[in-house]
Amino acid sequence: MSRLFPTLFILFSAGLVLSGGVHAQTRIGSKIKTIVIDAGHGGSDAGARGNFSTEAQITLELALKLEPILKAELPETKIVMTRRTDIFDNVREKARIANEAHGDLFVCIHVNAMPPIPHKEFLRYETVTYYTGKGKKKKKHTKKEPVYRHWTTPSPAHGTGTYVYAADRADEKASGIAEDQRFESEAEVEDIPDPSSPEAIIKARLWSQKFFKNSVKLGTLIENEFAQIGRNSWGVLQRNYKGIWVLQATNMPAVLIETGFITDKEEEEYLNSEKGQAELVRSIANAVIQYKTLSDAPHTTSTDSTSTGKPDSKKPVDPNNGNPKPMANMPSKELKDK
Ligand SMILES: [Zn+2]
Repeated sequence: MSRLFPTLFILFSAGLVLSGGVHAQTRIGSKIKTIVIDAGHGGSDAGARGNFSTEAQITLELALKLEPILKAELPETKIVMTRRTDIFDNVREKARIANEAHGDLFVCIHVNAMPPIPHKEFLRYETVTYYTGKGKKKKKHTKKEPVYRHWTTPSPAHGTGTYVYAADRADEKASGIAEDQRFESEAEVEDIPDPSSPEAIIKARLWSQKFFKNSVKLGTLIENEFAQIGRNSWGVLQRNYKGIWVLQATNMPAVLIETGFITDKEEEEYLNSEKGQAELVRSIANAVIQYKTLSDAPHTTSTDSTSTGKPDSKKPVDPNNGNPKPMANMPSKELKDK
């Protein structure tokens, strides 16, 4: 008898371990139960404008094409849309939708834009007459003034970039991620709470600790997919409040994908084409599925939990991992790669 008890105990323990292992592979064990897709802008906020299309229209088309792919290929994952029609919701409302759905991932789809480049050319001098003094002291003068011709040309900026919220620039985890100042529509920039309020600072810090690393991971996967289909990838970028406040307002890892520049003639056509949209949503879906697979895989390290809230060790993130493109090079010197 005295020998039987330990044997039974070992068997029982093995059974527990085994069932735990099987359990982890099932839906209940998945860390990514709900994915929120946000089509940027909408309604009265058209976002960036191209020659014949708007950002709000393209982001909605992409979101509506991404949804059925994820539903088909991740049948056990709930897919939540912030909008399905051309409506305007401010970014607070979008964050509320994502948080109330208890999303595990927030995927914001946007289209980039750069203002045109101004040019100035000297044409000639013109003689201009002007007067000084009053009454008897009034004097007539002439002077030569240069006349310029002013015009603009479209920005050569093109390609993709995925933004993560730059919660803490001093954080070493942020190293290697480029900063970028970008053109964004006023509606996305203005309607945000005061970023210097104590509440916003606490929220930003929490976001940094809990979700930053996973956001970088997803962003890297997305940009790698874009690079593989020949897009000019700017890589994973970070910015604070301008246009991406919604990322830190969502209590989950979150990325904002700039799918291309509407101000670039070729990219505007690509973004509106069946082929371009199919390629873009396929790339995003591939990355999201890879991210989910990685998150659910048995861990060799404990650095990528979405839920522990513990800051990572001293190991910095390599957001360029496997990405052939260095980040944030202005693409003006690069050849068009489309
Ligand atoms: Zn936008």
